[in-house]
Amino acid sequence: HAKRQGGDRIEVFRPGMRGQGTDKLAIESDLRRALERGEMKVYFQPIVRLGDRTIAGFETLLRWDHPRQGRLMPHDFIPIAEESGLIAELGAFALERTARELSVWQRALEVHPPIFASVNISSRQLLRHDLLHDVKTVLARTPVEPGSLKLELTESLVMENPEYAAQMMSRIRDLGAGLSLDDFGTGYSALSYLQRFPFDTIKIDQSFVRQLGNGSRPVILRAIISLAHDLGMEVVAEGAENESDAVELAQLGCEYAQGFAFGEPMTAHDARRLVGAAPEAA
Ligand code: C2E
Ligand code: MG
Ligand code: MG
Ligand code: MG
Repeated sequence: HAKRQGGDRIEVFRPGMRGQGTDKLAIESDLRRALERGEMKVYFQPIVRLGDRTIAGFETLLRWDHPRQGRLMPHDFIPIAEESGLIAELGAFALERTARELSVWQRALEVHPPIFASVNISSRQLLRHDLLHDVKTVLARTPVEPGSLKLELTESLVMENPEYAAQMMSRIRDLGAGLSLDDFGTGYSALSYLQRFPFDTIKIDQSFVRQLGNGSRPVILRAIISLAHDLGMEVVAEGAENESDAVELAQLGCEYAQGFAFGEPMTAHDARRLVGAAPEAA
């Protein structure tokens, strides 16, 4: 949604603009300056433990407050960042800000297992940029509990270059970071890959959770959850939008859920308040 910026100029960003020559170029050059100008914002969406509804962690999601176009969502700029190579800087930024917030939450909340944070990684970051270096750097600079920083990779990403991805992933695990398989069920990869890659968590795509509402038996959901458990992985369901989704997911043995039922992506400030890590008001 475009925001009014004051004055008489209002520009509306149309989703269809994405991929159109000049607009794409404009976005790309604006993107180069967005980080230094502080226009890029990290938002955090709670991931809740279904057993007791406590906050288990957060996923980091980027928002770009563009000076003329208003707020842009990841789908409007992540593909452009990937094509232009700017995803390297954007990814390092998301990692650094995530680790910083994670250490704040962990200082405020001494819970076991510790609260975690999960950052989306794009294929260019994993396959063509030195992700290992970035992860090592943030973990060295920022004190967080081992395993509490997780990286989210999609099936299509790891399938782009399975050999290389598997190697990188085991080195990421060696650094003490966790690995989540994002949007599970939307790709077309062989299930055998689940065993081959060192994921500790599966995030079930929202499309499966959406089917809970229509009264049919959740056969696929049940199968995915039990397969994940047999492979020693934990399960996060994405897109839990209401209480009945949450109840059904808990009954299916899913340990975590994320969705509008529990909280929308929020600012770092609001996330701190939610975990009780915000400084007391004066
Ligand atoms: P994702 O990683 O699958 O993130 C979940 C998306 O689902 C988010 O959209 C979130 O706002 C949305 N969502 C959460 N709960 C609900 C719900 O209950 N109902 C519905 N309908 N949607 C829900 P968002 O923030 O627009 O992000 C979209 C995608 O952009 C992400 O999908 C991720 O692939 C990518 N992305 C976001 N931030 C980053 C980043 O820092 N780096 C990279 N590489 N990709 C990112
Ligand atoms: Mg994700
Ligand atoms: Mg997802
Ligand atoms: Mg997605």
